[in-house]
Amino acid sequence: MTSTIIIPTGVERTSAAHLVIDEEPITVIWSTIPVPCTDWVLGDISSQGPVHQPADEVPYIWNSASVPCPSWTAITEVQCGRCGSMVGPWALVRDGHLEGDELTDVAREVAELADEEREAQRSKLIAYLTDEAEDTARQLADGSLTRDELPYIGHMARPGVGLDGDEVIAWGFLPDPAGGGDDEIVEVVRPIPAGGQ
Ligand SMILES: [Zn+2]
Repeated sequence: MTSTIIIPTGVERTSAAHLVIDEEPITVIWSTIPVPCTDWVLGDISSQGPVHQPADEVPYIWNSASVPCPSWTAITEVQCGRCGSMVGPWALVRDGHLEGDELTDVAREVAELADEEREAQRSKLIAYLTDEAEDTARQLADGSLTRDELPYIGHMARPGVGLDGDEVIAWGFLPDPAGGGDDEIVEVVRPIPAGGQ
């Protein structure tokens, strides 16, 4: 027997619900920011893409212990078919029906964990794009690559390395934190060294 009411948390990009499972009141609080496998962020599209838990969709709750001491876990992650790691948004479960400051505190914790994870992925993406841009600039300088082998940045539908004037631009993206189509583009720009073809 389960009853569920979605409740506002007051913290951006989080959602929460009061549930009653087997007569136990619990609160689940989750991040609504889509989370992909880090390898997907780095361009491997065969890795797990963004996993999204919308604000109006309560995560599946699983009892990870036994009667008479249930321990509730929210299942928001899926296993990446490529690297095997678990990928998905943060979610925390608390006993009782949290309200007010108690609810806001846990929602802030969820938002911070989600921000840290996204920041870590952004750092890895920037490091990867920096390598790509610098490698390409080096190859243009030593002649192992010519300009006409690279696309104009404005014509690229997918992430990669392109040119714009005298600049090499490596770009990728993180999924729209709101779950829509407004992805966060990340770019690293390097000048084409003098002597580049
Ligand atoms: Zn993976």
